[in-house]
Amino acid sequence: MHKAGFVNIIGAPNVGKSTLMNVLVGERLSIITSKAQTTRHRILGIVNDDDYQIIFSDTPGIIDPAYKMHEGMMGFVNSAISDADVILAMVEVHEKSFKDENILERLQKTDTPVVLLINKIDEIEQDLLEEKVNYWAAQVPNAKVFPISALHNFNVDQVIMEIKAALPESPPFYDKDTLTDKPEKFFVSEIIREKILLNYKKEIPYSCEVEIEEFKEEENIIRIRAVIMVIRDSQKGIIIGHQGKPLKKVGTQARLDMEKFFDKKVFLELYVKVNKDWRNNETQLKRFGYLNK
Ligand code: GDP
Ligand code: MG
Repeated sequence: MHKAGFVNIIGAPNVGKSTLMNVLVGERLSIITSKAQTTRHRILGIVNDDDYQIIFSDTPGIIDPAYKMHEGMMGFVNSAISDADVILAMVEVHEKSFKDENILERLQKTDTPVVLLINKIDEIEQDLLEEKVNYWAAQVPNAKVFPISALHNFNVDQVIMEIKAALPESPPFYDKDTLTDKPEKFFVSEIIREKILLNYKKEIPYSCEVEIEEFKEEENIIRIRAVIMVIRDSQKGIIIGHQGKPLKKVGTQARLDMEKFFDKKVFLELYVKVNKDWRNNETQLKRFGYLNK
């Protein structure tokens, strides 16, 4: 039997969501995660084993001050809660309540399994712990409560076990071997797409897709080869532009963003290919990730 599903991590800023993702998924992803907030994308962290696949999603913005507009707020909370197979709600040991009443209420009412983590238990005396666990168990009676220290990797295995138990039976959603580099590639192509949107008229960007042919991280530099796919020859000409300057501009802007993003030097090779039916061909759509979503 194989289990798989989506686990959304919600919680106030600084409770330790990224640190937990880091422990769960691995060092490299957390770098991405910490910057994900600036790009408004959700980042998935995927934990694989033979018989399960847990797809974690750190949901930046849910309780971040920038999003604290009243209407927008509930939308975020609702989708983070209704999208999930398991909700991982995170508080820290010093917190006495959720910073947002709506979230508490939603957690209490949801039919989705809730795992509530009290993080940073390394910061309090051991004998205060039971009281904390009881307190949160009473706050969210439908939740399983775990005290953890994400930073010291304490009790995190228990959390994985609990999530695994709560996951639905399902085949994996993503290939089990290509996961660690996927977020990086994803961000790289998103950055290029953004620059295409900025630099060309409307109809052009919608005919474009970006494929990352190579992503090679070396000690001091990341080497990236990306192809911009267009549908028609004429579009290829437009993308490249007069003396190749427009394409060069896209490349430079994208590279600068990537260097900020990865905090590392980037060598970006960018070229254009005509691919008449990327939008119709199922294999190609899968390759670009559309059919997985
Ligand atoms: P996020 O905003 O929820 O993603 O929180 P971060 O993962 O960025 O962590 C915020 C701060 O809390 C960082 O300084 C972490 O090092 C720290 N932190 C995270 N987990 C723990 C923990 O278990 N114990 C302690 N003492 N600090 C932690
Ligand atoms: Mg974070």
